[in-house]
Parts: sequence; C-alpha cells; structure tokens
Amino acid sequence: MFREMRRKNQLLTKEEAEKILENGTSGTLALLGDEGYPYCVPISYVYNNGRIYFHSAKSGHKIDAVKSYDKASFCVIDKDDVKPQEYTTYFRSVIAFGRIHVIDDKDELISALSLLGERYNPGHPSDCIAEINKFINNVCVLCLDIEHMTGKAARELIKKP
Ligand SMILES: Cc1cc2nc3c(=O)[nH]c(=O)nc-3n(C[C@H](O)[C@H](O)[C@H](O)COP(=O)(O)OP(=O)(O)OC[C@H]3O[C@@H](n4cnc5c(N)ncnc54)[C@H](O)[C@@H]3O)c2cc1C
Repeated sequence: MFREMRRKNQLLTKEEAEKILENGTSGTLALLGDEGYPYCVPISYVYNNGRIYFHSAKSGHKIDAVKSYDKASFCVIDKDDVKPQEYTTYFRSVIAFGRIHVIDDKDELISALSLLGERYNPGHPSDCIAEINKFINNVCVLCLDIEHMTGKAARELIKKP
C-alpha cells in the first residue's frame, strides 16, 4: 500500500537509505497527535537492523500519541545544500514508515538504551551502563519497526552508473 516515488531516478538504494539513518543524529518523528493534528517532533535516535529506537520521558504529547495510535513515520535530512542561483537545494533524505511501540521488557529496554549510548558516546560501555542504571526508572524507549523506507536525493547528487 505504500506509494512509489514519482521521480524514480531520484530513488536511493536501500543501502544508501540505511547509510543516511546510520549517519544521522536526529530526525522528525511524525505521530497522530491530539484531535487528529499530526505531531511532528524532533528527536535523536539510533537505527539498528530495520528498527529505530528513541528515548523519551514517560509522559507527554509524544507518548500519549504513540499509545493511542501506532502508525508513524520518521524523516532524516542528510544534506540540504542550498544553491541560491539555481533556486534549488541539493538534498538527500530518508523517510521510514512503520509501527511504533513502547518497549516494556526490561532486557530489551537496556539493550536499546545501550545502542543509543554507543551511538552518541561510542567506546564507553561502562559509562553508558552507569547512566542507564541512573535513569532506568524515569526513561522510556520507543521502537519503530520499519515497514517501508525510501531514500531520495536531488538529481545532481545521484551517482551515475
Ligand atoms: C535535535 C533534537 C534532539 C532531541 N532528542 C530528543 C530525544 O532523544 N528524546 C527526547 O525525549 N526528546 C528529544 N528532543 C526534544 C523533543 O523534541 C521534545 O521536546 C521532547 O521529547 C518532549 O516531547 P513531548 O511530546 O513529550 O513534549 P510535551 O511537552 O508533552 O509537548 C507539548 C507541546 O510542546 C511543544 N513542543 C514539544 N517539543 C517541542 C520542540 N522540540 N520544539 C517545539 N515545540 C515543542 C509542542 O507544541 C507539543 O505539542 C530533541 C529535540 C531536538 C531539537
């Protein structure tokens, strides 16, 4: 049911789209918010094997939205190189669609937090575990299971075969 990209020559490969998710440090998580208003919230994340993990407080608009409706999308902009004289931008981005849920299982929660810790402070596993132990009771982790993902780039950035 997911749409195909109209400009197929701008479609990135799955590997290129994954690279964007791996390199990015934040994106916008789109949820169905209050009264049907889309809630698009900027957030840090880590991508792992077809899933995207986010950490969050246990309450708020985002958590309420996730709990009431599990379909979500997540967008990361990798490049936005504005070319004033060309009235365009040389862009590269990815959008992932999927189902999002709060992780309840404690072992899964710790392993997702460890992935987030390693992504943002690589090479310090014991510091990361100490941080997790400090905040484990106040933090919540969301998991987006990706069902469909597309990467797109301006024509100028597409590698010619
Ligand atoms: C680059 C970046 C990375 C971030 N990383 C994380 C992260 O990893 N985890 C995390 O929990 N939060 C992160 N944040 C903060 C995040 O954007 C939210 O502010 C936060 O998660 C609280 O969301 P909430 O829905 O619970 O807030 P609530 O306070 O419940 O939201 C209520 C209202 O406040 C407004 N609001 C909330 N957040 C923002 C915002 N960022 N900008 C403008 N208005 C806002 C909206 O109108 C919203 O409806 C990050 C923000 C940025 C910019």
